[in-house]
Amino acid sequence: MTEKINGRLWQWIEIDRKALFSNVRRFRALAGPRRRLLAVVKANGYGHGLIEIARLALSAGVDWLGVHSADEGSALRAAGLDAPVLILGPTAPGRLEYALRDDLRFTVYDRETAEGLSQAAVRLRTRARVHIKIETGTNRQGLRVADLTAFVRRLSRLPGIEIEGLSSHFANIEDTTSLDYPKRQLAQFVEAAALVRKAGFEIPLRHMAATAAAIVYPESQFGLIRLGIGLYGLWPSKETYLSCRLRKRKPFVLKPVLSWRARIAQVKRVPKGAFIGYGCTFRTTRPTRLAVIPVGYADGYDRGLSNAAHVLIRGKRAAVRGRIAMNFFTADVTDIPGAAAGDAVTLIGRDGRETVSAESLAALAGTIGYEILARLSPAIPRRVV
Ligand SMILES: *Cc1c(COP(=O)(O)O)cnc(C)c1O
Repeated sequence: MTEKINGRLWQWIEIDRKALFSNVRRFRALAGPRRRLLAVVKANGYGHGLIEIARLALSAGVDWLGVHSADEGSALRAAGLDAPVLILGPTAPGRLEYALRDDLRFTVYDRETAEGLSQAAVRLRTRARVHIKIETGTNRQGLRVADLTAFVRRLSRLPGIEIEGLSSHFANIEDTTSLDYPKRQLAQFVEAAALVRKAGFEIPLRHMAATAAAIVYPESQFGLIRLGIGLYGLWPSKETYLSCRLRKRKPFVLKPVLSWRARIAQVKRVPKGAFIGYGCTFRTTRPTRLAVIPVGYADGYDRGLSNAAHVLIRGKRAAVRGRIAMNFFTADVTDIPGAAAGDAVTLIGRDGRETVSAESLAALAGTIGYEILARLSPAIPRRVV
């Protein structure tokens, strides 16, 4: 099927609608009917395609969208999506008014942003909905708990500001099977929420959990789950998978949403003893048939996969030979009879009984599945299948 649709493309990304729906159902079951699910679609929808994923996630029943930047939020609006959108990252002073026009929600932890938003809201005769981010131990974005009450008080006096949410983020839940550190962070978060209440303020929405916490630490789910990697069908880490199994949950199945495919541009014969690619890092040990694939590190196929990864051709594994170049790499198809120019190549995904996962590429490249996906070039065409 994809053969026909994509006959003119050298590479494309397929987004599996059913897989995404299945993942949303899994997390809906974890969260229950009343909690909100926010689909994190930053970094071009983790490389899957911002608009494609946002649309699918909403039609699968996700309630909110989360982006890193105001620009990403505005792109969602320009595509006609009107779901609640929360900006998770900082918003530059010069972007506040535009973002407010687009009815985006803001993560706030400093006075300047709050005051800028208040002024913009007054000018536009609207209100700015903000989520106060507090520092509980990640030491990234956020306001110290000690400063929280005074900050809330100040915000409550600013015209046009509605404090809608209180949030924080876990530092050490994906990299370990221990919940010691998350427990300390959660305790800080709960204390912060109690302080705010004691000062007489009611903040309707609290949220702290991303994918891993939603799965292995349900106490942290509060009113909303910020669902990133799990939406796309990947486990945050081996440790998360292990924690899930150790906690004897029912088998929890996630389905990878993305496949990355290309086409062989040329097949050539090279003799035994020939060098392949930049740096001559591979030398053939037999007469070899080599497939030239017009994809490289500029597209997001990590250079660390040189002489390491496999691709799938005609349902068989073909070893990557030589260095990954900017726009090319080569694979050994000596043992794949009939492999020819124009054949589909699977870089990530399934072909017949074989699979290449983003996680397996990440392991070879010395990184995590998140990075393999997030760095897929936005220029590659995306197709929902
Ligand atoms: C990226 C991000 C998430 C999603 O994390 P996953 O591990 O992909 O689920 C959630 N919250 C914040 C603040 C983030 O930056």
